[in-house]
Amino acid sequence: MTGYTKLIREARNLAASRGHKLGEFLLTRIQTGNPPISTRGAMVAVCEYCGASAAVDSDPPAGASEIWGEALESDCPGKVLADYRESEAGDETTTQDDDILTSLQAKLDPRRFPNMSPKFAAVVGCLLKIRITEPHLVQVVVTTDGFLLGRNEGEPTCQHFLGTREWLEENWEKLISLPDVGLTGDEYQAARGLIAHLEKEERIYHG
Ligand SMILES: [Zn+2]
Repeated sequence: MTGYTKLIREARNLAASRGHKLGEFLLTRIQTGNPPISTRGAMVAVCEYCGASAAVDSDPPAGASEIWGEALESDCPGKVLADYRESEAGDETTTQDDDILTSLQAKLDPRRFPNMSPKFAAVVGCLLKIRITEPHLVQVVVTTDGFLLGRNEGEPTCQHFLGTREWLEENWEKLISLPDVGLTGDEYQAARGLIAHLEKEERIYHG
């Protein structure tokens, strides 16, 4: 899987230069051959605005390219779609939650805290959906025995040991309580909720 991180970064940059905003790259079975005769695995992401896709394969069959997709070849028309969706949605709760997340993203951005450990910064980035680390941590789960495991973009499973649940709770509480951060009551509750509802993983960490 080593080759994927670099290819994903490349695809993301190319798509961004066309105005697309790619979501997470996920391992996907794609049809191959013309006409399609078999399937193979590739990492595929879809633009959040327009649905155009980008795909990478670090070990493509002969003659196939490592990186391809409509999101890399055409400009994104989707900014318009996104604006339309926003005005269409009009759901007050969603808008409010979005506002709180945006505010938390600004106030708790790890780049504001130069002394934060890289591991905690990656977890904070993942919880707040801020893309700051490379490779990008996209999922954090808690095991039944109280450990935190993380999954980087381009990987199939949560396999990185990040620390204990206690470690996360302590550091998170410290961060969101900092007077300088200045969270409002709602923001503070939302921030606590972010780690209270972490996905549970019924698996014991071996290693
Ligand atoms: Zn797009």
